[in-house]
This record gives sequence, structure tokens and C-alpha cells, in this order.
Amino acid sequence: MTDWWARAQAVIPGGVNSPVRSFRGVGGTPFFVKESQGPYLRTEDGKTLIDYVMGYGPFILGHSAPPVIEAVVNQAQKGLGYGTPTTQEVLYAELLSRSVPNLDVVRLVNSGTEATMSALRVARAVTGRRRVVKFAGCYHGHHDSLLIKAGSGAATLGVPDSGGVPEEVAALTITVPYNDVTAFRALFDRFGSEIAAVILEPVAGNMGTVPPSPGFLEAVQAVTHQHGALLVVDEVMTGFRVAWGGASKLFGLDPDLVCLAKVVGAGMPLGAYGGKREYMSWVAPLGSVYQAGTFSGNPLAVAAGFAQLSTIGGPEFYGGLRERTQYLAHQLVALGQRHGIDVSTNVIGAMFTLFFSDRAPSEFTEVEATNRERYRAFFHGMLARGVFFPPSPFETAFPSSQHDDVVIETTLKAADEVFRTL
Ligand SMILES: *Cc1c(COP(=O)(O)O)cnc(C)c1O
Repeated sequence: MTDWWARAQAVIPGGVNSPVRSFRGVGGTPFFVKESQGPYLRTEDGKTLIDYVMGYGPFILGHSAPPVIEAVVNQAQKGLGYGTPTTQEVLYAELLSRSVPNLDVVRLVNSGTEATMSALRVARAVTGRRRVVKFAGCYHGHHDSLLIKAGSGAATLGVPDSGGVPEEVAALTITVPYNDVTAFRALFDRFGSEIAAVILEPVAGNMGTVPPSPGFLEAVQAVTHQHGALLVVDEVMTGFRVAWGGASKLFGLDPDLVCLAKVVGAGMPLGAYGGKREYMSWVAPLGSVYQAGTFSGNPLAVAAGFAQLSTIGGPEFYGGLRERTQYLAHQLVALGQRHGIDVSTNVIGAMFTLFFSDRAPSEFTEVEATNRERYRAFFHGMLARGVFFPPSPFETAFPSSQHDDVVIETTLKAADEVFRTL
């Protein structure tokens, strides 16, 4: 039998095209997927897995959702791209603009990374300022300005979180703890007039799921606006996942710029950024902020995204999905506790993370303090029983509308067995 993993490592860095797939630090060898359907992955070695990773977020209708596949196949027969405007782009921009707060104008790009990178460029141009603020534990993509780790202390100038990021660039990004309004205010007292933008995950999902504390988002928004900085709401994960129109809609926010990807691309490489017309009019060809893309607005990606959002149709879709996600997360906690294990969860919309701690974390250092060894054991135990959970507690689980009662009960039964072994 071919050792695909050895062959992968010989020609692809670490054998993977995105680091999280290597399960590094989690141990074990990644599996290769052959196909996907609904809540399931089928691996090359013939196993069927219940999937909660779900491509890290796009597949809210389940894998290979028929309306999405059909739309992509239909479009493929007409061409893969033209480098010209299409009417479908207009229809999709209209749908997004109608549904997401303050999204007067929206530009399609190819990934979440491109969306946040472009939004910051707009914010810097509009304000004529250089510094940006992010929250520790939030992930906004892999470009230089945002691949930043907090230094020590409450509000710190960033240090590079990656080789190859110049310190000078990292130093322009200031990092504060999530859900810490005091630190955030103190930072603006000191640097307020130099800050171009605050970028935030309205529900953090890249340190595991960590929802905003009551009043946090409102305070961040008010302070940001008082100082003439732009509020960039990164809805790459939360957009059309926690609610129709995203977390901005759910929490009644007033974003200046919004970033989208994942669910809006339905599994194709598509992202978007947009917002208030006065700011987006800075974008070329209207204004001086250059941003472009050979594949931007790619017809296959647009067809997929449009089909997915049209199938979801509106806010009603989310009720049942939210209830099943709540049920699953809370049942997992109850089961764990029955086995005498300290376990907790944060759950919102169709996002949750199981934490091995007696109290659910509210910011990054608290996630770091959870029992990650135990999470690792849980992950491997579940995988051995045919359930693919995120490889670490710094990731979010993404139930889809195809995770029905049978799938959930099968998951709980596996978890019951695994908890017994922990
Ligand atoms: C996934 C993610 C990104 C990066 O998106 P890519 O498409 O992977 O570049 C940015 N922000 C958030 C909140 C994300 O979850």
C-alpha cells in the first residue's frame, strides 16, 4: 500500500497545505479524505467519520450540499472565469449588502486573509494613521500586520508570531486581551490619536469559541468611534454562522468595515470585505487604495456562495441548528461531569468548543490554562471511534444542518466511552 503520508511530506511542507491539518503537537498521522457527504467524511482507507471540523467552517448545509454542487457544476459548464464583470456578482453583492449591517458596498476577494488585509489598508488610508489594534487569541489571517502575538502585559505592542514578519510591522499592531474593557480603554488613552482601526472577532472562534462578555462589544465600538478609528468586524467565521447577517446583526453592531469568507464561499475560495460607502469609496478604481485579484469574483465561487445563502434563505434557518448545537454541547458537558471530569463549553449559534476546565474561558490565557493534554486524549479517543473533532481546544466545532439527531446521539455515545477512559 502506498504510504501517502511519506510521499506528502517529501513534496509538501510538513505534508500539508495549511499547518493546522498536520495535527502537529496533537500526535498521530493525518488521514486523507476521499469524499464528503452531509455530516460525514470518507477517508482513503475506507473509514466514515462524523465531521465537526467541517472544512473549518464553510459547510453549514453539510458537505456536498446538493444545491451548491449543482450550482457549481452548472457554472463550470459555462466557463471557469472570464476576467470581466458578471451579473451573478451583482446579485451576490446585493444579497450580502441586504443582509449584513452597514455593508453598503462589498468587494469580493479570494480568502479571509485577503479580506482583513484589504480592510486594514482602507482603514489606514481613510484615517491617515498607522497603528491597528487586535485582541489576543483572535486570528485574522496570515498577513504581516495581523500575524502578531501579544507581548506581556495588559496592552502591548505586538511581536511577530512568525518568522519573516518585520518587527517594525509587528510593532504597529497593539494587542489587548479579549473581553478586557479596562485594558482597551487604557490603550486608547495612550495611543488613541494614532490608531487607524480596531479589528475584532465579534465572537472569538480561533482560540476555541469565546463569546463576548455583556457590554464588551458595545464598549469597544464606542471607544473606537470616539477616537476616530474604524471598527473592522471580522466575520470570516461568524458571518452567516451565528445568525443570518452575522454577529453584527445578532448584537446590533455599527461596523465601519466587515470581513467575510468561509460560509459565504460555501467551500470555494471566496472572501469579501465591505462596509460604509464613505470608506469603501477609497477603494480603486474609485479611490487611492489599490486592491485587485485575477480570480476575485470567480464565477464558480460566486455560484457556490449564492446557492448556499439562497438555500439558507434567512434567519429562520438558524433556530433548529442553534438548538441542536446547544443540546450537543451541553450534553457533552453533562456526560463528562458524570464521569467526574472538569469540562465546560462555550456555545453560540452553530459554534462550540469543549474545554477541559471547570469554568468556560473568557480570554486567551484562560484557554491556555485549560487541560490540553486531556483535550488531546479526547480528540484521539473520538477519532478512534469515528468522530472527527477539532484537533485542539483553540479550534471551534462546526455542526451543520445535516448533523441530525442520529448523528448527535452517535457522537454522545462515543463521547461517553471516551470520557470513561480519561
Ligand atoms: C479563517 C479566518 C480568517 C482567515 O481566512 P482564510 O480564508 O483562511 O484566509 C480570518 N479571520 C477569521 C476570524 C477566521 O476565522
